[in-house]
Amino acid sequence: MPRLKVLFVGSELTPIAKVGGLGDVIGALPKALKDLGVDVRITIPKYGVIDEKKYTLKEIVSDIEVPFNEKTEKFNIWETPLPGSKVPVYLLDNLEYLGQNGIYFEANASSSGAANECARYCFLCRASLAIFEPLNWWPDIIHCNDWHTGILPALIKLIGAKDPRYQNIKSLVQLHNLAYQGEYATAQVAKLLNLNQEQLAKLSEDAKGERIKFIKEGILATDLICPVSPTYAQEILTPEYGEGLAEVLRQNQDKIHGILNGIDTDRFNPETDPEIKINYNAKSFEKKSENKLNLQKYCGLKENINTPLIGSVGRLSHQKGIDLYYEMIEELAKQNLQMVFLGAGDKDLEEFLVKIDKKYPNIYTKVGFDASFAQLIYAGADMFPVPSRFEPCGLIQMHAMRYGTVPIVRATGGLKDTVPDVKQDPKKGLGFVFEEFSAKEFHKALMRALKLYQEDRKKWNEIAKRGMQQDFSWTNSAKKYLNLYQELVAQ
Ligand code: ADP
Repeated sequence: MPRLKVLFVGSELTPIAKVGGLGDVIGALPKALKDLGVDVRITIPKYGVIDEKKYTLKEIVSDIEVPFNEKTEKFNIWETPLPGSKVPVYLLDNLEYLGQNGIYFEANASSSGAANECARYCFLCRASLAIFEPLNWWPDIIHCNDWHTGILPALIKLIGAKDPRYQNIKSLVQLHNLAYQGEYATAQVAKLLNLNQEQLAKLSEDAKGERIKFIKEGILATDLICPVSPTYAQEILTPEYGEGLAEVLRQNQDKIHGILNGIDTDRFNPETDPEIKINYNAKSFEKKSENKLNLQKYCGLKENINTPLIGSVGRLSHQKGIDLYYEMIEELAKQNLQMVFLGAGDKDLEEFLVKIDKKYPNIYTKVGFDASFAQLIYAGADMFPVPSRFEPCGLIQMHAMRYGTVPIVRATGGLKDTVPDVKQDPKKGLGFVFEEFSAKEFHKALMRALKLYQEDRKKWNEIAKRGMQQDFSWTNSAKKYLNLYQELVAQ
């Protein structure tokens, strides 16, 4: 079989341009696919915020023309290897649409209708399809990621109707988070893509209406849909988790394959992590307490290896359930424990975390994005709550386990798939799980964890070390993607 060629297109890429887990996946899955022999490449926007001193960027093609927004627009391709690999990353360079502002125009990646956000990702999709001729490289499959690339499968078909070179290109949409849908006025999208509304409507039944949802377009037009965990793949078929798209997803169920995300086990490795105070592994688990003392010192908390330390890292969005702390924080803060929060996002959640930092001497909050500090928390904390309302996969609980920090999670999506409860299975359990999304149930799970930590440290350490020994690498999941790719091109 000839070597499979796959182009990833996405809005984020760790470490070059990261906001959350989406970037981590696009920064790691292609590496694992390359190791399996796939010729994989990536396109992302050349955002103005990319640190050009940190990466060796080389301009390889200039002035590629694309029809866009009733004009002919130009863009350039810059290339850099994905750090730690030979996967080529193509950064598409067009100042007007891709280079301004940060990664997203809207706070918290919310995609609630801003015109510039719509234009940015329409441009990314249209331009990504214009790189094949200049690079003399034609992919078999385009691996799309979330709403930002939702229009791509339909665009391939549209261009393919006139240009046979596009006709055999298949597509896959990896669903990282259905809550972000990219909803915009259909007329605006048609104008950006240089189509009249009728042409757009031919592409998709849905585009006949006044509003278009990019992720829905992706679901309808793509060949395969891959939600990021098996449980999430089931959940989104229900009204509770389907974000208004459960019915469309059910109609396209034969295309759905839930595949669990992995994590970048080279980057998140307590044995080699250069950010943490002292490296350790499951055999030298006792060294973790040096990292705890370091974290306590960094945060101005009392240095004591026996005080249970609760860590939290993540986007501050409604999804993540941080508001569950509202009614219990008073009581929690009185206990013999410490809490360290790192996050950025919704203003009300940021304000709450800053307020409790000021009020309680045993709570520390840092608002902002800080990848180095995140590592200190993974390595220094004892326990790591992730009380999400919904969680498509969640990487933070896997990062925590890799560092021997025990997760306390709600049984939803990938949290359910990655954290078996110690109560259900004392020999295989990796953390503490609660079912119902409520402060009461979350509190009960936290108390269960604190009790075990205080009363049976030997057992606690066994759970923590078991977490460190799990295989969270991309290898298994990358094989599943490869199988799907192979089936798709054989069709
Ligand atoms: P989501 O994709 O919903 O943001 P995930 O758990 O899948 O959640 O991934 C979040 C990723 O982003 C993790 O790598 C986490 O360490 C990182 N992260 C989130 N917020 C911050 C922050 N404020 N500072 C540093 N890293 C963060």
